[in-house]
This record gives sequence, C-alpha cells and structure tokens, in this order.
Amino acid sequence: MPESPNALKSTVNNDLSTLTLAEARAAVVSGTTSATALAERYYERIAAVDPEINSYLALTKDRALAQAASVDAAVKSGAPLGPLAGVPIGIKDVLTLKGAPATAASKILNGYHPPYDATAVAKLEAAGAVLLGKLNCDEFAMGGSNENSAYGPVHNPRSLDRVPGGSSGGSAAAVAAGLCAASLGTDTGGSIRQPAAFCGVVGVLPTYGRVSRYGLIAFASSLDRIGPFAHSVADAATLLEVLAGTDTMDSTSSAQPVGSYSADLAKPVAGLRIGVPEEYFGEGLDPEIRAAIEKSLDDLRAAGCSIQKVSLPHTSYAVPTYYVLATAEASSNLSRMDGVRFGHRSAEANTLANMYRKSRDEAFGPEVKRRILLGTYVLSAGYYDAYYRKAQQVRTLLTRDFLTVFNDVDAIVCPVTPTPAWKLGEKTEDPIQMYLEDIYSVAASLAGICGMSVPCGTTKDGLPIGVQVLGKHFDESTMLRVGAAIEAAQVK
Ligand code: GLN
Repeated sequence: MPESPNALKSTVNNDLSTLTLAEARAAVVSGTTSATALAERYYERIAAVDPEINSYLALTKDRALAQAASVDAAVKSGAPLGPLAGVPIGIKDVLTLKGAPATAASKILNGYHPPYDATAVAKLEAAGAVLLGKLNCDEFAMGGSNENSAYGPVHNPRSLDRVPGGSSGGSAAAVAAGLCAASLGTDTGGSIRQPAAFCGVVGVLPTYGRVSRYGLIAFASSLDRIGPFAHSVADAATLLEVLAGTDTMDSTSSAQPVGSYSADLAKPVAGLRIGVPEEYFGEGLDPEIRAAIEKSLDDLRAAGCSIQKVSLPHTSYAVPTYYVLATAEASSNLSRMDGVRFGHRSAEANTLANMYRKSRDEAFGPEVKRRILLGTYVLSAGYYDAYYRKAQQVRTLLTRDFLTVFNDVDAIVCPVTPTPAWKLGEKTEDPIQMYLEDIYSVAASLAGICGMSVPCGTTKDGLPIGVQVLGKHFDESTMLRVGAAIEAAQVK
C-alpha cells in the first residue's frame, strides 16, 4: 500500500505502532513483558513521537503505573486476569478520570479535576486496562477536524500536514501512531467513525444506550455515545464487551443483554443480506473512496453475502436536522459552564451577570460560541416550531428510513466520509464546508443505530479510507461480523 510522504518516521519503540490489544494482553499474561515495562515503553514513545502529533493533553502516569503493578502482581500470583490485563489505553478528554484534568479541550474547564471516574473508564480499569492519559479532541467534541481544540490541533500520523478528523482526533491518532493500544472516543454525529477512517484504524459507535455515559461531559445528550478505537475489529469487540451494559448511574443506559461480540466473530457471514443505500453514493463522493467501498462490497459478495440496493430517502435532510438538534442541546448543556463552581472565572467581572458573561466570552472558542448562538436561536419562542420541532419530526423520518431498510437487510455498507483527510487549515474558514463533511455519518447518529468504520484501503497519496458498516439497534454482533469480514479481505 502506498504511504504518504509525510507519514510519521520515528523509530522509537516502533513495534508498538501496530501492536493490537490482543497481542499486548498476551505478552503481559505470558510474561514476555510486564505490564509496567509495557506502559513505560508507551510513555517513551509518547515522549518521542507525540510532540509531532499532539494527541495527549495529560498523562496519568502515577495511576497507570500503579495499575500496571497490580496487574503484574496478579500475573505473578496466578490470580485471575481481566480481558484487558495490562493493555495500555488512552481516554478522550471529555470523560472523567478521578483527580486528572478533564478539559474537553476547552479553556472553560481549566483547573477542573473531577472527583469521580466515568463508568466507561472504571470498567476498562476493572478489566485490567492501564490508562495512559487524556486525549485531545475538538472543544466539547464540536468539530470534525480536531482544529477546534483550545490546546492546538492534532496531526494525522499517516500524513502530518493533514487533519486526523474529529472530534475524537486524538483518540484515533494515538492508536494509529502507536501511542496506546486502543482508546475511547465519543461520537455524536460521526466523531468516532470519521477520525477512524481518516487515520486508518477501527472505530465503533455502539447503539444509543449500549454504553453508560456517566462521567461524560455532555455535548448533545440525545446523540452522545462512547465507543472504542482499536487496531482490529476483534480488539474493538473485546472492548465493547467490557464497556457495554446498563448502569444505575445513567438512566439512558439500556438493560438489553450484552452480546457475545468476540465469540460471534467466528460465525460465518455467508447468507447475510447487505444493503447499499443509493443516496450515499451521489455527487461529491471521492472516486477513490467509491472504488474502495465497491471493492469491500465485492469482498463481502465473495464471502457469501448478498448485496442489494436500498433507499434512505430522507438522507439529504440529515445534516441540517443534526445541526439544529445538536446545537439546541449543546446550548442547553453548556449553560452549566458559568465559572461559578469549577473552571475558568473571569478576573475582570464586577457583577454576577458580568461574571457569567465574561467568563464564557473569554473561555469558549469560536465554534462553541457559534453553536450556542445557533442552538439558543432555534429554541427561542418565535422559532421553536419552525426549527427545533420540525427537526425532531424529520429525525423520526430519518429513523423510519433505517427501520424500513432493516426489514430487508442485516447490515448497511456505505462510505464514512465523502473525502479523505484534508490539509490542516483547509476548511477552518468555512464552517458549512466542514458540516457537509458529516453527510454520511449523522443520519445513523440521529436514528440511534450502531455503526463502525473499518479500514478498506488507501488513496494513491497514501491516505487511509474507511468503510462504514451500520447495524440494527443493539445488533452490534452482526455489524462487527461484517466489519471483520471486510478486514479479513484486506490482508489477503
Ligand atoms: N462533526 C460533527 C460535529 O461537528 C460531529 C461531532 C461529534 O460527533 N462529536 O458536530
């Protein structure tokens, strides 16, 4: 496969750059390495490589090494080991880790050290994972290029002058660059699938409600979801099995039983019915991406799947619907950032109202302000019916599109993005251009179904291409099987 001329060249601990979760765990469990030595090697590589990538906002070394020591003690004593024993994992900085900074890549949360762990990170640790640190992202997860971080953009490890995608750009880039074996990100309108596609790693968006969001700094609560990034579909399945499940701390988490995602990967895909939505292959789709998706469809056909055209007729309304609803919810969620109990407080203010205003004005970045303004507008008395209510109605139509198609097919296969990763700075002046890049990701977000991005090739310039697999509500199992079949055909 061609490699971009600007790809990362560092050779420090380079073998980590492709080390899977399964390999990392096996090395620790068999005693080939200790969890402590492995974590130290990742920290060395982070020190050598991350200045070029900017994926970590904070390292949680004390906690990571204490956890690694306890895994090593368990290996020595023959105590039972979790499915993630000794596996070094990075966490998007919108999730809380007790005592570590949680910035959401915003200045407004400066100095905030949450007093509790997010359920998702607590579950990883309980399964033996070693949490290396907090990963860069777009401010409050608003963006598709990681250029909206208050702490500088992330560079795509496959081509350093390009964006890694967003908003979970740090999470995707860190896995791609070998700065953790896997990571957590969040996806509200594409923020796991799109950066996974841009960086050439696997990214999974679980069904809405599948993973507890306790400890997630909210952007748009009816859309926000937590999910894994990994080097392989099998790794992602292992992570999802750990993360999934109901949680008394999150009333939106689902009580649906968790699937046997890893074991199910062994089931053949022959006989599965794959839908290909014609609306996702229209004008604006990069020809190299189209060709790579078609190749993946051929691979699935060769594996015994039947491929059929389907229609999701309301697709063209997905981007405007998403940007009305997501901004409305963001304007409400972000009203708690007021400088009173935590985070940035203006030194200039002399009245209470002034303190709110100045603290927010000084510390929110331009994209967050744009969305608060837009969201407040669509919720305002005179415009609510025209925008917010209408968008809710269209959301129902978009969801029905998927439910109808899923009567006839087991999974949907389509592009993740219309273009590969663009150059840093290329779209920052034009928010609409940036929003339109979300055309293939936001409909699934609005419908609450599960989705994933699987690497399926590279462009002639060496930029990764991802293919999107969408599954029925709570049918991650079938989706992951289809993803694994596409992945298996890549290495042939
Ligand atoms: N790019 C989309 C946005 O800017 C998606 C963000 C996300 O999923 N967090 O809102």
